[in-house]
Amino acid sequence: MSTFPSTSPRDGTIKAQIESDDSASVRAAVRRSRTAQVQWAKKTVAERGRVLERIRKRFLREAEGLVEVLTEENGRPEGESWLSEVVPNGDLFTYWIKNAGQYLKRERVPLNPINFPKKTAFIEYVPRGVIGLISPWNLPVAIPVRALVPALMAGNGVVFKPSEFAARTGQKLAEIFQAELPDGLLEVVQGDGVVGAAVIEHHVDMVLFTGSEQTGRKVAVAAGLKLIPVSLELGGKDAAIVCADANLERAAQGIVWAAMFNAGQNCAGIERVYVEKSVAARFIQNVCEVAGRLRLGEDVGPLCTPAQLAIVEKHVEAAKAAGAKVEVGGERGEGDGYWFKPTVLTQVGDDLEIMVDETFGPVLPIRIVEDVDEAVKLTNRSRYGLTASVWTKNVWKGWEIGKRLDVGVLTVNNHAFTGGIPSLPWGGVKASGFGTTNSHLALEHMVQARTVLLDRSNATQELWWYPYNETLVAIASALRDLGLGKLSALGRLLSNLPKRFK
Ligand code: NAD
Repeated sequence: MSTFPSTSPRDGTIKAQIESDDSASVRAAVRRSRTAQVQWAKKTVAERGRVLERIRKRFLREAEGLVEVLTEENGRPEGESWLSEVVPNGDLFTYWIKNAGQYLKRERVPLNPINFPKKTAFIEYVPRGVIGLISPWNLPVAIPVRALVPALMAGNGVVFKPSEFAARTGQKLAEIFQAELPDGLLEVVQGDGVVGAAVIEHHVDMVLFTGSEQTGRKVAVAAGLKLIPVSLELGGKDAAIVCADANLERAAQGIVWAAMFNAGQNCAGIERVYVEKSVAARFIQNVCEVAGRLRLGEDVGPLCTPAQLAIVEKHVEAAKAAGAKVEVGGERGEGDGYWFKPTVLTQVGDDLEIMVDETFGPVLPIRIVEDVDEAVKLTNRSRYGLTASVWTKNVWKGWEIGKRLDVGVLTVNNHAFTGGIPSLPWGGVKASGFGTTNSHLALEHMVQARTVLLDRSNATQELWWYPYNETLVAIASALRDLGLGKLSALGRLLSNLPKRFK
């Protein structure tokens, strides 16, 4: 087996070597999960919930070990790892354990007894089988947990491929689950995109993918060729619109946090600000004060990979070359790690990479606009549509502005934190993908909605069976007329029905 290194982004040192899977071992992992899933699916939701409750407790008990690996592998400040990766996930387990039974309950569907005599219909929710879970490195616990818990509650097996840049965190997380689950139900496969592609190739029944737009397109094609469902949570270029009537102190604090959190490596990080002209100077001053106080290392970690650092630097350098003004930061940090200083830019052109493509770094470009209409137009110009926020003291006005934005999540006077609330759907539009994380809607692709019809009729014939004759046509035309409200057709219907069924 080949290996790949796990490197600390804080100083570039290699911390471990990870064994990579290959096509044969991925195939074997899918098979093991499929075998275990058959038994798992026979358990009731309540029985599965009891297993997940034991995992929840273990997850919280063993959180220190998880945070330690995560902080080393991702380089993030420890407090941030706790707040984004551990604390909300305790609630997530509880949400699914409490509600999955209700969401997955068989539903009786009433049928018209005249058209469908002695027939009973249900919708039942059947697990998909084995789900391929392919994850990114930027939230390497929160993102897989949001998929693993509902997928398992719904009766599926999972083959989990963590990012090659979060392999140890993925392994540690999976071990917490595996300690309580039947053998084979959750399998981990390690490696890069080749291994990710093998997961789709080896007959999983659906794919839950979170990652970049570019990889998302490849995954969509591969899943399309296999004719299996896929959910794609992709990148973003989130905008914040700051109205003239915003609380400017709050807006500056909130927007800087949402831009710099996780060193800006968030699908829903704020990557563009549109501020109304009349308050722009004061807002920019506030933002610069808040961003200027951030400590590299304690508040803002390094970028996770050298490639990510190179993208951030390229976007900033191109903006500078095109005349953008560096208000704060604007360059690499010192040391051997992948550091970039928290950066605020103004005077940025709308067509610059930094305003168009995902930067995924601690960089906040601010663009002054004439009015809200211009801000809406510029926000919607993006090919992405994950989330956006509007900042105004009038929340109803914020909501009205938000209705004009092409995004999957709208937040007024805050940004994107709802991704950590398990009862609220999360997902984007346009190049930000499709499919839903969190809430009952996340189950859409994880289960098959199967129709069941039970027929207690002993009649030798149904209305629509053979023979086709004039009586059948007369009944059909009477039914059509009744549908148009012509009650006079009732007589025709009643006189022809006995002829049909005599
Ligand atoms: P990435 O697309 O490079 O990789 C994601 C995963 O896909 C990794 O596990 C990778 O090994 C795997 N992969 C690569 N090529 C593959 C292929 N051909 N077939 C199958 N799998 C393949 O993304 P990344 O750099 O790890 O993560 C950052 C991206 O994720 C950003 O664009 C970010 O916006 C996005 N993201 C989106 C959300 C969301 O909820 N919308 C959340 C977090 C991250």
